[in-house]
Amino acid sequence: MAVQPPTEDPLKNHHRYETVKYLSSGSYGFVVLARDRTSGSSVAIKFIERLKGKITKNVEREILNHSILIHPHVVRFEECFLTEKYLAIAMEYAAGGNMYSHVTANHGLQEEHGRFFYQQIILALDYCHKMSISNRDIKLENTLLDSTEPGRNPLIKLCDFGYSINESHSLPKTAVGTPGYTAPEVLMNRTRYDGKLADVWSSGVMLYAMLCCRYPFERPEDDDDPKGQHRIVQRIIKCQYEWPKDKPLSAECKDLMSKIFVADPAARISIAQIQKHPWFRHGLPQNLEVDTYNGHYVKLSKQAADNADAIRRVVREALHEGQEQQSVSGDVDHLAERNSMDTEDSLENDYLSWY
Ligand code: ADP
Ligand code: MG
Repeated sequence: MAVQPPTEDPLKNHHRYETVKYLSSGSYGFVVLARDRTSGSSVAIKFIERLKGKITKNVEREILNHSILIHPHVVRFEECFLTEKYLAIAMEYAAGGNMYSHVTANHGLQEEHGRFFYQQIILALDYCHKMSISNRDIKLENTLLDSTEPGRNPLIKLCDFGYSINESHSLPKTAVGTPGYTAPEVLMNRTRYDGKLADVWSSGVMLYAMLCCRYPFERPEDDDDPKGQHRIVQRIIKCQYEWPKDKPLSAECKDLMSKIFVADPAARISIAQIQKHPWFRHGLPQNLEVDTYNGHYVKLSKQAADNADAIRRVVREALHEGQEQQSVSGDVDHLAERNSMDTEDSLENDYLSWY
């Protein structure tokens, strides 16, 4: 359930930022557009109430993981700070809104248009994975556009690292994310899984949803049916999806998606293999060397990570006041916005050992 918009200005009397307008509410908090009083620049600020149970380990994870990521297709983390009522995360403002709104406003995207975005998502995921961070909540609502200026295609900015995990020490085992986007091995919740391959699956759901304006494992009859959610999970586990009859997709595009929607993660196409797929390669700059390009940002990010002590102090202070909380999964609907599930009931060891 989305957090209610604030009744009072969350930045009242703040020395650095002033609120311009309210943008959105999510499962953890709300987001406003703000202006830096000195430089005049715009930032988006996400606010999470400093109440018992609100500042969870996921929030801590979000801040620590997001703060070390520096990449053209990841929303830039600026800083986090505490106000009397909130823990606040200031970040680059993506003026073009989220991909969910873009896709629904256009009733699905043309293949070429969708590919342009998908290439950027894969570039961003490749970089995050090189930083050992799996996002685990890739979806339309967590993918932002930098602008909607006419005359140029907007660029992708991934946001929301609330379920991200640093996998440099061990792989996760608990199910988090958003049900319709979640890979079978995660839903089955039996063993540890590779978050990178789970991200590949979610990227395929996103590609399908961008092009077809519906979700691959959901059917209209699932709507408003208490058993609908269960049926969706069963279809995902059995990898049962259909190509839409009203939207012709090219054979190459279907070939790529059919290599993503493979239940066995070991047999699923990897990010490196996606980059070599003919459908993916169309229109990419000839001289784009992804490894070199992302390698540059990995180096930059590692330098920034060395200076993360101040961020850790703020998060620890806020976390100290809060307690763990659990939230439940969202409803199912025909290309309805997706709420995240969170069945994580304990801190994973891999996270603790990371810092
Ligand atoms: P939650 O954890 O509650 O899902 P998100 O970080 O996904 O929060 O943000 C919720 C929504 O707020 C996004 O879908 C988007 O519409 C808006 N939003 C978040 N960050 C930004 C940003 N940096 N620039 C513009 N809008 C943003
Ligand atoms: Mg979100």
